[in-house]
Amino acid sequence: MSALILDGRAAAARILDDVRARAALRAEAGKLCPTLAVVRVGDDPPSVRYARQLERTFRGAGLAVRLEVLPPTIDDDGLAALLRALSADASVHGILLQLPLPAHLSRERAAEEISPDKDVDGLTPLNAGRLFLGRGLPFAPATPLGGLELLHHYGIGIAGRHAVVVGRSDVLGRPLALLLLRENATVTICHSRTPDLPRLTRQAEILAVAVGRPGLVTGDMVAPGAVVLDFGINVVAGSVVGDVDFASVAPLAGAITPVPGGTGPMTAAVLARNTLTAAERQDGRAAP
Ligand code: NAP
Repeated sequence: MSALILDGRAAAARILDDVRARAALRAEAGKLCPTLAVVRVGDDPPSVRYARQLERTFRGAGLAVRLEVLPPTIDDDGLAALLRALSADASVHGILLQLPLPAHLSRERAAEEISPDKDVDGLTPLNAGRLFLGRGLPFAPATPLGGLELLHHYGIGIAGRHAVVVGRSDVLGRPLALLLLRENATVTICHSRTPDLPRLTRQAEILAVAVGRPGLVTGDMVAPGAVVLDFGINVVAGSVVGDVDFASVAPLAGAITPVPGGTGPMTAAVLARNTLTAAERQDGRAAP
């Protein structure tokens, strides 16, 4: 068996085509350009690279990014003041707080300061709570949502299938499990205290790995025909690799995301779409 390669670049391009068309209609109607404020404290290199990628993706789709970089000496009050100002600024439609924050800052407090209407990466307790309760259409974190969209793009069914999620971070594994549940998968969540991980991963019809450990999942841990989503981004000897050992898993999986080029490109595309949606919802509210 040879796995179907789930091409995140192609799926992201399709989302961005739709965003570009919707953004062009807004521009013709004289509406504000949908704008994402990217807030970073300091110069964490992966965060700098991610912001550049977002700038390129947004520009290509007719959207804008406003970068706000705070010095690493900023305190919780200073960060909160910026997030409050952006939340009140009508020319900003989405807010992305880049993580990780320096250790002296409270990510929980910062998340409370973002307007839920502009929380396009699903960080606020209100949006996370709505996702947990399955209420309405909250903004969900872009990376796990992008993974699901990739399955949709390829017409891969989710309902009724056993999905095993490895990782339970609040930006990735946990919301991914909730999104899969929302689509009627039967979900198992694994983490660092899970004994005998291979026993569980071998039961997965959909296996999603979001850990940050290169090569954690190997061929002997995957059932033949499983759909494998690899969210890991790890730099090994100068190359980006995932959490799944592609060489041993791809020959037996039914479908698999490559790294790079799988789940990664979906994140920026989903953020762009969420920012456009936020702008459209804010227009609706601003209307007389
Ligand atoms: P994180 O906050 O460090 O969380 C890692 C999770 O993995 C934790 O829940 C941890 O369990 C679990 N874990 C650690 N070792 C394990 C093991 N041996 N077996 C099973 N579970 C284990 O990381 P994250 O932010 O979720 O990111 C995970 C990966 O995704 C990283 O490589 C990151 O770079 C990547 N990422 C990708 C994208 C993208 O666009 N594709 C976006 C964001 C992040 P405990 O909870 O018990 O500690």
